[in-house]
Amino acid sequence: MSEFDSLQKNINSIKNRIENACLKVDRNPNNIQLIPVTKTVETDRILQVVRMGYPAIAENRVQEARRKIKQMGQTAEQLEWHFVGHLQSNKVNKVVRFASMVQSIDRMKIAEKMNRRLNKVGKQMDVLIQVNVSGEESKYGLAPDNTLAFIEECAKLDHLNIKGLMTIGLFSDDWPKVRQGFRELRRLQGKITALQIDHVQMQYLSMGMTNDFEIAIEEGANMIRIGRGIFGERMHPDSYYWPGINEAKSHHQNTRNN
Ligand SMILES: *Cc1c(COP(=O)(O)O)cnc(C)c1O
Repeated sequence: MSEFDSLQKNINSIKNRIENACLKVDRNPNNIQLIPVTKTVETDRILQVVRMGYPAIAENRVQEARRKIKQMGQTAEQLEWHFVGHLQSNKVNKVVRFASMVQSIDRMKIAEKMNRRLNKVGKQMDVLIQVNVSGEESKYGLAPDNTLAFIEECAKLDHLNIKGLMTIGLFSDDWPKVRQGFRELRRLQGKITALQIDHVQMQYLSMGMTNDFEIAIEEGANMIRIGRGIFGERMHPDSYYWPGINEAKSHHQNTRNN
């Protein structure tokens, strides 16, 4: 099978899984946006998937994204780069340069720095607020209880467009527990929507990865972020990206098959 065919096959399989999950809870698959996560994937394979109809892609590390953008040249400008990784203060200016959406806002210092930079270059940035619903320390994101107050502060930064919430589900094969986390994010979304805070929109619920996206869809996700399900296993274990997670419970060791 050619590289293109095998990527196409993986995409089709993800699309099928999306449809089946939607069927279960009477949702329209067209309302679920699939964002390929392209960390560790080289540009030729990324572009093959882009051409299958996925111009919005997500990267987890600033340096890696910048290297690929350079390599792609003008083509990179036609893509919509989402940043989903832990953002360090010294990388904020760089992210502002290439990202169309930053899904991982969870600290006021970073949000303020981004706002200042955006002001300087005359741009707006779509952002999602990252919430840690799993309670795992390594996962970054706000505690659910602190999220509302954070959003109220963040809403005052006039170059950030708050568009919703993002979470990384619990790394576990205890699926009811995984589901509980997604449900918590949905509940928060509802609560914040009801408050009708100025400059705050809650249109996106970005949750669900290769191993848990069906559950996320059942619980209301409308944006899912898929890496391994499209591009295959990565060279680095999950603990490389989320230091301190229990590797025995990481996604590599357990594939959901119900
Ligand atoms: C890598 C990554 C994903 C995709 O994970 P897979 O298990 O490869 O589908 C989703 N979200 C974030 C923030 C990631 O870093």
